[in-house]
Amino acid sequence: RVNAEQFKQLLSDIAANVEKEKDYLSQLDRAVGDGDHGVTMSIGWQAIKKRLAHELKDEQDCGKICQDTAMTFLNAVGSSVGPLYATALLKGASLFSGKTSLTKEDIIQFLIAAGKGIQERGKAQVGDKTMVDTWIPAIEALEEESRRGKTLVECLEAAVRSGEEGMKSTVEMVSKKGRSSRLGERSKGHQDPGATSSYIILKTFLTCVK
Ligand code: ADP
Ligand code: MG
Ligand code: MG
Repeated sequence: RVNAEQFKQLLSDIAANVEKEKDYLSQLDRAVGDGDHGVTMSIGWQAIKKRLAHELKDEQDCGKICQDTAMTFLNAVGSSVGPLYATALLKGASLFSGKTSLTKEDIIQFLIAAGKGIQERGKAQVGDKTMVDTWIPAIEALEEESRRGKTLVECLEAAVRSGEEGMKSTVEMVSKKGRSSRLGERSKGHQDPGATSSYIILKTFLTCVK
């Protein structure tokens, strides 16, 4: 089980890992977008980190933690990822409502709902060169391994592997969604920044439960 303190630590670790990859994420976005993905992700996750350390310091309801951090991210971030990652966190607000600790099944259902929520919100399909190319294969791996009765760590290992393949597959794709779609064929040959930040998030889930 993951208790509320550990869940908050996980969110804090995502903020730390985003911070480490901030320059890399902006560099990827300079090739296909406006070069700000590292900065927007940093602003959003640092705002969450601050909230966790202060207003949410004593909060034990994992649903409330998700609700609050979703709104914090949405309000802090102006770019297209604002509503996308906020939607993902909001899935936890309903799934974790009233829960002060989370089971393997809670975490898996959360990640599945988060990925599906991002797809519904942004209307991107696999192959459009977005974060959906990381999330959908990762979700499929989660569903498959969990159906086979694998442990949470094994499920997340499979999700990270499939998410990584999905992320790398964006290099050869032509963007059909978001700012990079304006480049058309010229978007080819570059890894999608959002697919990369989503991979960083999934990897943090794995390291935290290990
Ligand atoms: P902006 O393009 O507004 O500057 P960011 O640079 O922060 O926003 O984020 C860009 C990332 O957002 C892209 O790399 C892509 O993965 C993701 N993205 C953009 N539009 C969509 C969408 N409709 N669905 C899913 N992801 C999207
Ligand atoms: Mg950008
Ligand atoms: Mg921007």
